Amino acid sequence: AAREALPAFDGTGTTADGHLVPLLANVGDGEGALAAAAAGAEGVGLLRTEFCFLNREQEPSFEEQTAAYQAVFAAFPGKKVVVRTLDAGADKPLPFLTDATEPNPALGVRGYRTDKAHPGVLERQLQAIAAAAEQAEAEVWVMAPMVSTAAEARHFAGLCEAAGLKTPGVMVEVPSAALTAGAILEAVDFASIGTNDLTQYTMAADRQLGPLAELTDPWQPAVLQLIKATVDGAAATHQPPKPVGVCGEAAADPALAVVLAGLGVNSLSMNARALPGVAALLRTVTLDQAQDAARLAVTADSAEAAKAKVRANLPLLE
Ligand code: PEP
Ligand code: MG
Repeated sequence: AAREALPAFDGTGTTADGHLVPLLANVGDGEGALAAAAAGAEGVGLLRTEFCFLNREQEPSFEEQTAAYQAVFAAFPGKKVVVRTLDAGADKPLPFLTDATEPNPALGVRGYRTDKAHPGVLERQLQAIAAAAEQAEAEVWVMAPMVSTAAEARHFAGLCEAAGLKTPGVMVEVPSAALTAGAILEAVDFASIGTNDLTQYTMAADRQLGPLAELTDPWQPAVLQLIKATVDGAAATHQPPKPVGVCGEAAADPALAVVLAGLGVNSLSMNARALPGVAALLRTVTLDQAQDAARLAVTADSAEAAKAKVRANLPLLE
């Protein structure tokens, strides 16, 4: 029989027993933000600002930047928008920030690390984000990509404060950040786990290489254990714990989204097209059942076993 079409996402991510898990969208520009709002996204969990300025030889001007950010904020009045500062390097080179001759770009000067090599670009971006936020009704949070240490998180929080930005956070996409999440969350207000890079760096497998797909699978128990370590680190440091979201592709896989909710992740951000499927499955399980699924997945001995165990435990999943 043909599969029934999923109902559109109604704008509230929740388990069957009413545990709220806000479902947000990953976007790259104002147009994407409008589409995400139309799809019911509860906000933006990841604005990839480097997507606004790909192929630029020069740093975009203050005016260009504020216009690009404002276009996104305007699509989400009253809602949360998490702006990620420029994540240049490796799979996303920006000529004004990255060195094309690096021998090993994924492990090189990328993301937040470009601040040392090109002082000023990050400060100017934060000022542009602050200026755009001032005119907007959206609730603007800002985070740095590729943070590896609590010292980096502290430095970033200082730059945000200097720019007048109130809610600084960092991405957790390097194993060292997951393992020191407690110390990092002493310095910043939230963390957002980037499972694409976290998987790449945990498994030491290039996310762009098809032949390594078995390794670059976020169901790998080692990756799930690091996600758990991040949530546990947050819980050990503050009560109530500071928010920990997920904004990598893992959040777009409905069964894995249930596992993430069960691990205690507070919000899930994904490609807007994935919202209906994730919302629909999440609504079929209680928080208890999601926690059971998380235990099964984290203790499995392979990605395949994790998937099989969770699927067997979620009877409504085909
Ligand atoms: C990630 O690494 O999971 C992430 C969300 O960031 P990006 O895919 O842009 O590197
Ligand atoms: Mg990343």
